Amino acid sequence: MVRENELREGEVAIELPPAEDAGLVFIGRIRTPWTSRLETPRQGRHDGPICRLEIFEPFVPAIKGVDFYSNLEVLYWLDKSRRDIILQSPKNNEKTRGTFSLRSPVRPNPIGTSIVKLVGIEGNAILVRGLDCLDNTPLIDIKPDRCEFTPLAAPQAGDFQTE
Ligand code: SAM
Repeated sequence: MVRENELREGEVAIELPPAEDAGLVFIGRIRTPWTSRLETPRQGRHDGPICRLEIFEPFVPAIKGVDFYSNLEVLYWLDKSRRDIILQSPKNNEKTRGTFSLRSPVRPNPIGTSIVKLVGIEGNAILVRGLDCLDNTPLIDIKPDRCEFTPLAAPQAGDFQTE
């Protein structure tokens, strides 16, 4: 049900279509110092506190090679977000922007992404700086930052295609 009463002036919520199961599996959880959304950074900073990406079994072997990179892209599920607001008023001033023009946690699929600095690896945990999520936020994926990553497999035709 649309919770109209909780909207800010000008905001628009929709009745969400039924969920389609994308088959997501959470590969771990993120331990951070923040337990309230009001104190969590809007965007992480590379000199921010160290956070732990705790990887669950059976995914722990997938950490191999991560320490080759100094920057990682982290994808996480902003599990406490509502998902039904399509026009939002971030400043609560009656002016609205479409959800797809914002990095707000409120979105149909509340996926957060951050480029983080690798600090180290301790067993099943990857230590990083640069996150902006609540403690225990579910972890979806970790990839090398694309600026540092050169594909290891042979190039394909599309790699040379222009226009
Ligand atoms: N860096 C990510 C991005 O750009 O995709 C996330 C940015 S989002 C603006 C960060 C905010 O999301 C935090 O300030 C906090 O208010 C909220 N947040 C953090 N963890 C959350 C969670 N687990 N569920 C819902 N909201 C969360």
